[in-house]
Amino acid sequence: MASTEPTTLPERPAAKPEETNEPRERKEPTQPREKKQKEKKPKEKKPKPPKAPAPPKPKKEPPPPNDPEQMFKVGFLSDVWNERQEEKVVTRFPPEPSGHLHLGHSKAIAINFGFAKYHGGVCYLRYDDTNPSAEKQEYFESIKDIVTWLGFKPVAITHSSDYFDRLYELAEELIRRDGAYVCHCSKAEIEAQRGGGEGKGHERYACAHRNRPIEESISEFRAMRDGKYQAKEASLRMKQDIQNPNPQMWDLAAYRIVEDNHHFRTGDKWKIYPTYDFTHCLVDSFENVTHSLCTTEFEMARESYDWLINKLDMFKPMQREYGRLNLSGTVLSKRKLNKLIDKGYVRGWDSPQLFTLIALRRRGVPPGAILSFVNELGVTKNTTNIALNRFDQAIRSYMEFSVPRLMMVLDPIMVIIDDLPDDHFETFEQPFQPKDPSFGTHQIPFSKRVYIDRSDFREEDSPDYFRMAPGKPVGLMKVPYPIIATSFEKDPETGLVTKVHASYDKPADGSAPKKPKAFIQWVADCPAQNSPVKAEARIFHPLFHSENPSAHPSGDFLNDVNPNSEQIFPNAMVEVGFNEIRRRAPWPAGGGEHNPGDKAEASVELGPESVRFQAMRIAYFTMDSDTTDDKLVLNRIIGLKEGA
Ligand SMILES: [Zn+2]
Repeated sequence: MASTEPTTLPERPAAKPEETNEPRERKEPTQPREKKQKEKKPKEKKPKPPKAPAPPKPKKEPPPPNDPEQMFKVGFLSDVWNERQEEKVVTRFPPEPSGHLHLGHSKAIAINFGFAKYHGGVCYLRYDDTNPSAEKQEYFESIKDIVTWLGFKPVAITHSSDYFDRLYELAEELIRRDGAYVCHCSKAEIEAQRGGGEGKGHERYACAHRNRPIEESISEFRAMRDGKYQAKEASLRMKQDIQNPNPQMWDLAAYRIVEDNHHFRTGDKWKIYPTYDFTHCLVDSFENVTHSLCTTEFEMARESYDWLINKLDMFKPMQREYGRLNLSGTVLSKRKLNKLIDKGYVRGWDSPQLFTLIALRRRGVPPGAILSFVNELGVTKNTTNIALNRFDQAIRSYMEFSVPRLMMVLDPIMVIIDDLPDDHFETFEQPFQPKDPSFGTHQIPFSKRVYIDRSDFREEDSPDYFRMAPGKPVGLMKVPYPIIATSFEKDPETGLVTKVHASYDKPADGSAPKKPKAFIQWVADCPAQNSPVKAEARIFHPLFHSENPSAHPSGDFLNDVNPNSEQIFPNAMVEVGFNEIRRRAPWPAGGGEHNPGDKAEASVELGPESVRFQAMRIAYFTMDSDTTDDKLVLNRIIGLKEGA
């Protein structure tokens, strides 16, 4: 499954001297290109003062925060509000508890909970549990946790099954109002009545049961309830309008007999279960939902939704449909995810290469980054197809100025600075976030022995190389004088460098230090200061080679899997500042992750994933849930730039 041998990362440029506290990589502009051009003003010609010194290069500052409520102020959700303004807005998020939620669902969560919150209303978390065989307790728990983690608090957690008695009563009422009948037609017969089946495209027609007496349908419906029939021998169908051009009006089923009928919550009480089409609108109505927001797949179902509500004279919610969020470059279907797990390509449902929300959480993606991503995409009626790199970019932008920075080496080699005394010890003050003093600072120890990353050393120097090589001065970030490699030792079996000897380039006459061409990150070998902090670092790469794994020419998406999507560095090291940022998590506070004492609508117990930092020049990392008292495991959340 995973490669356990450390491999060297691709060549990485060293930090330039003026940027020693900065990640080397420059961020992509956050503004979309069109917008940037619009903002470009014609340059005014100003006479330059002669021989003025060049102004210092502008450094990148934190961008102004985006309006986190933008998605409710414009577009689809603003139209919905204008169409129906209510003093008390009530919405619902109605997942089926038959799988784990994925990134696409975060849009539904943000819309339903967010719309209610924005308008001072409330939102229900309602489990649509009308399919007893597919439901599992673990899904109920996982869905609730994820909603809270994203920062939302349902006004109540309800279940469609809470209303089974009431739904049953309404089904009888519907029959009495001549709005439903018990039908004994087979699946093929019903298909034919709807104009399909053999000789497709013929006229639609009603079945013989449609006009049976109301009393007969009532007694047959009770017989269904009492177990007189087996599955498929009878169903309750709504008496809609078979000639209506909308297939959602062709006498849909309201109740069906379920063979595997043990329900997680109602036990063996029911042999018949209501369908989605019957349940959804009625439960919306029971809960006084004002705005029933769903994806455009349900657009056609709106007519039957309204039909049933009208037929029963119920409180009428307004159903409106928005475009769903699709993701390319991965798979989200439960069946495919199960295959990946069963075949051992990933660790489980929460494996960081996946895009279930529990996987994104474990990978360290901040909940606020997910909400900000959804908000920036906006809401329209169109389906949004998003490439993974766009999501990645949203995560990067969100974390760039909101998490602390630390030095880390993934694949360490020891450097012994021979001319420092054995007991040499000093400390340097290092800011956690150079752009924001409120992050505070910490002390990093420096001693005779330090570790650097294998990728920062070359056995032979060359003029275009600026990091560590024999005879070349190189800076260690924050250390006042450069070091120069004098010799190195190798493991005769592996051929890998094990130790580098160096001298400390401190001028004996006390003159100013020479400025090296590059600075590299390092971690002190200073056991008295508990340095380094040792860790297993897991680097995740895309799980699929292509943008559309499901369209693999072989017909099997598994052939598109990258077998080395998880790369492990078993001997990674982080500087001691890690211990402080671990104590001070969450980084950043947002969504449902809060500092103790912060007033928040919904907050989760902080998990290891809330300990996030930028490893300078490497990537963003978080603590993995496999971390124990004896072993620290770190996950790469995202590289510093695309393709890194
Ligand atoms: Zn029939």
